[in-house]
Order: sequence, then structure tokens, then C-alpha cells
Amino acid sequence: MNALMIAPCGMNCALCIGHIREKNRCEGCNGNDQSKPNACRTCTITVCEKRLATESGFCYDCPIYSCARMKSLDKRYRSKYGMSMFENLAFIKEHGMEKFLEHEEKRWKCPECGTQLSVHRKECMECGWKRPFYAEA
Ligand code: SF4
Ligand code: SF4
Ligand SMILES: [Zn+2]
Repeated sequence: MNALMIAPCGMNCALCIGHIREKNRCEGCNGNDQSKPNACRTCTITVCEKRLATESGFCYDCPIYSCARMKSLDKRYRSKYGMSMFENLAFIKEHGMEKFLEHEEKRWKCPECGTQLSVHRKECMECGWKRPFYAEA
């Protein structure tokens, strides 16, 4: 995991199935636009002027933090995938990027086989271990 994979909204693109998959692999929010699916290519957070004017480039530095777009994104991820953009951003702001990446590596490692998990998958793709914090569809 590396800092370039952390999107301005707090998403860790290293955990995204769009990045993990072999076919049509997305380079992540900070990567080449061409590799991204439409939803991420047209994401309003990436082009938000308030964000672009911040020193850090992250939404936590926004003067109105946070907006409706961030709230709905966070709600969707919390309820559907057991992950919070706001929690991620708060961690980065408080402890810094290096500590966040260490924390993420531990948090998203399968306890059974050590494979890195995907935020978008209920189970470890290697051994089938079930994530306890993943909402049932
Ligand atoms: S699809 Fe979107 S969330 Fe997933 S890695 Fe690409 S930019 Fe990140
Ligand atoms: S929280 Fe602020 S910087 Fe982030 S998308 Fe919303 S308005 Fe833009
Ligand atoms: Zn596993």
C-alpha cells in the first residue's frame, strides 16, 4: 500500500476491486483517468475547487467539511462495505499518512491466510474467510 493509492475522499484505492482485479485494472483515483470506470472518472470530489485549494489535497482541510457528496459516499460505504471515509480522513489528519498505511495493512489482511482483502468483497478472495463487519445484502 502507498500514499498515492489514497484518494482525496479517504478511499483506499488499493482495496478496491477495480484495482485488485487483473482485467481492466484501475490505477486508482490519483492515477490515469483512462483506466478508471466512469463513476470515478466523473467524480465531483476530484475536481472540487475547495479541495484543490487546500494544502493537503484531502477533504478534511475543506472549509465546509463536509458536503452532501462526501456524506452520501461515507454513508454508502459504511452501510454497504463496513468502511468509513470520514474515519479514514480523521486518522490521516491525526496520525499522518505513514501510520494510516500501517494501520490499513493490518486492518485489511485476512487473519486466516494473510491475503489482502477487498473492501468490496464479503470474503477473502483466497481462502473464503468472512469479514464480520461486512453488511449482509
Ligand atoms: S475504481 Fe475508483 S475507487 Fe476503485 S481504484 Fe479506481 S479510482 Fe479508486
Ligand atoms: S468536503 Fe469540501 S473539498 Fe471535499 S468534495 Fe466536499 S466541498 Fe469539496
Ligand atoms: Zn484469506
